Amino acid sequence: EADIAPRDAALIARRDAVLGSSYRLQYRRPVHFVRGEGMWLYDPDGRAYLDFYNNVPSLGHCHPEVNAAMAAQAGRISANTRYLEPQLVDYAERLVATFPGELDRVVFTCTGSESNDLALRIARLVNGNEGVIVSSYAYHGTSAAVAMVSPNLGEAVQLSPSLRMVDLPGPAGVPEAQAAAFFEAQVRAAIKDLNRRGIGVAALLIDSIFSSDGVWVDPPGFIAGAVAAVREAGGLFIADEVQPGFGRTGTHMWGFERHGIAPDLATLGKPMGNGFPIGAVVGRHAAMDRFGATARYSNTFAGNTVGIATADAVLTILQRDRILENALAMGARLNAGLEQLAGRLAGIRAVRHAGLFFGIDIGLEGMAAAQRRAMALTIVNALRDDGVLISTTGANEDTLKVRPPLICEAAHVDRFLQALQDALGAAAP
Ligand code: PMP
Repeated sequence: EADIAPRDAALIARRDAVLGSSYRLQYRRPVHFVRGEGMWLYDPDGRAYLDFYNNVPSLGHCHPEVNAAMAAQAGRISANTRYLEPQLVDYAERLVATFPGELDRVVFTCTGSESNDLALRIARLVNGNEGVIVSSYAYHGTSAAVAMVSPNLGEAVQLSPSLRMVDLPGPAGVPEAQAAAFFEAQVRAAIKDLNRRGIGVAALLIDSIFSSDGVWVDPPGFIAGAVAAVREAGGLFIADEVQPGFGRTGTHMWGFERHGIAPDLATLGKPMGNGFPIGAVVGRHAAMDRFGATARYSNTFAGNTVGIATADAVLTILQRDRILENALAMGARLNAGLEQLAGRLAGIRAVRHAGLFFGIDIGLEGMAAAQRRAMALTIVNALRDDGVLISTTGANEDTLKVRPPLICEAAHVDRFLQALQDALGAAAP
């Protein structure tokens, strides 16, 4: 495209040649960043971009205290989990203490995908069943096993024959009062089919924000009947906390708590190390010990001392600096601003959120799905040109996905709202 700088065009060509086409770039005019600080990313010319998209650096880009902990540990030793290391045990105890009492064991991983992969292994080993139930546009990761239970990947993967997908009440247009019953009925039908075919249900695996489905967070508790049905059938409830975990919802540390229901296994990732690759599976000891007695789990990098020191600093700051309270307050401010915008300007069909995770449905009265998708993409790119980063989600990719670092302040929220207002004006046909 004409407005891509020659410097960037040359890099894109080299990138495509060596990395291949599975690596996608975001935005029509891809961005090139050389530095990050708090809510901001900077390009080579020193232009600042407000990051309203990255949920990995929850405490802000390049948090000095997190980085100092990481560097200090890297300067002492980076060892694996087969040696005695008090910090590993200290952090494991601190992490487990943030969960309901029954979830009292933790195993470390390097990514969210590894966490889900391991959780599925544990579930299948514990109950001997094979079937997995997920939401219809779920994404759970990149390993062979979890890609096969990630319908969001579309035709790029062959889904597992033991996978059953269930519709969410929100996208199906079911009113909130009937949401729980609708979801439970979907899950019961899936279980019945799995049982009829002798597959059985190993697990219901869900992200309680349903981020890749388009951010369907309400009403809290609507998953309860479905979870009960899975347990009756011998399956486990795996809460994928990669998106909602570590305070994203503002009200709770863990997304499942917002629904008032404790899982058998919870899988963690993304913000756990504020950018350092570390994840975990936290679970009930009945399941975890059953797995430990039979399987051997060794992971070269997971739980290494540098990752643990980093994650420990993240947890300390999250608790000490009252990050959840901030996420709740800023989420409320952003929601109020969006409701106001929606009332004044055409283009916003609905706003959904929990804390600082927002789904904003885009489109005008009577627009076809393809036009709504195009309008959402236009808005995302207009925001990028204005120096604000977000993306899209949902089955039709016509929902804006907005998840700023949890440290964002009122001025950042207001800057985003102004940029969105301008972009909406420009995107209306
Ligand atoms: N689960 C969910 C809900 C996710 O959104 C993602 C990543 N987007 C993953 C799992 C996989 O995590 P990772 O990319 O760290 O493997």
